[in-house]
Amino acid sequence: DELISQIAAGEVVERPASVVRELVDNALDAGATQITLRLLAGGVRLIGVEDDGVGIPPEELPLALRRHATSKIRSLQELESVGTMGFRGEALAAINSIAEVSVLSRRAGADGAWLLDGATGELKPVARAQGTSVEVRELFFATPARRKFLKTDATELAHCIEAVRRHALARPDVGFAIWHEGKLIEQWRAAATPAQRIADVFGDEFVAQSVAVEHQEGAVRVSGHAGVPDAARSRADQQFFYVNGRYVRDKVLAHAVRSAYEDVLHGQRQPVFVLHLAIDPARVDVNVHPTKIEVRFRDGREIHQAVRHAIENALAAPRA
Ligand code: ADP
Ligand code: MG
Repeated sequence: DELISQIAAGEVVERPASVVRELVDNALDAGATQITLRLLAGGVRLIGVEDDGVGIPPEELPLALRRHATSKIRSLQELESVGTMGFRGEALAAINSIAEVSVLSRRAGADGAWLLDGATGELKPVARAQGTSVEVRELFFATPARRKFLKTDATELAHCIEAVRRHALARPDVGFAIWHEGKLIEQWRAAATPAQRIADVFGDEFVAQSVAVEHQEGAVRVSGHAGVPDAARSRADQQFFYVNGRYVRDKVLAHAVRSAYEDVLHGQRQPVFVLHLAIDPARVDVNVHPTKIEVRFRDGREIHQAVRHAIENALAAPRA
């Protein structure tokens, strides 16, 4: 079982940023309004994620680290319309097999918090406000070969920040803070609008140099912000797609955006954008890969057209 967990871990966890993504997913699924990340050595020594979500009752704490234990879906049918970030129930178990994990949680309404040591299974009472803290130490400590593949702390840190940024752009209503080696390095306060969050993350100039996207076509709704071609900070790493709130990378979507830019405004090679697609969950398969970063659309052509038209219309509209 230990071996199976470690093999699963190889698919889910490539580097500290993969752990960050899974832990922040869980915090969001728990309804957190504030999420704080604490890192040491780019996340290799420590990744700590604290949230103020609903918490986990002590009797369920050991389950959280067990393979294929998810509290989020109960049937295959529910998988068709999964509304949470997590549903496979394997992230924490996988991480626990390749690092030192502890989970500290206080359930809403409970009068105490409990700390679970992932290695020994020991549970003890501790003090904490409502919510959950997960600590992951010494990632890949038992597999030196994997650990050797990690880049410098600075590079791993940059990937961790990127993982949080992806969540932050999708959830402007949630506050995020990132600490590294005891220093606060990023802070995005809960924002009133998506545009405000984009400005906080990319700077005011990006918003000034972008157009709002708002488009409905058939059963597909596309919204967000797209940079105009002269956007000074046009960079390849500022392209963000979300499908029903989930960050994805997808060739169909990328192609649709690129062709919209090519047709309307010649020449911009790296369009900058944050685009949200809202579609019927039954028409997109999110269970393609353990990292859930890939999706499969039932009708790629329809999606392609909707995205392309959304950008074309937005770029063609006179700017305010
Ligand atoms: P999944 O998210 O796919 O269900 P995970 O391995 O990521 O699987 O988490 C296992 C379970 O642990 C979750 O289903 C949830 O019940 C619980 N859990 C994990 N993190 C949190 C958290 N931050 N707050 C509340 N519950 C959590
Ligand atoms: Mg999860």
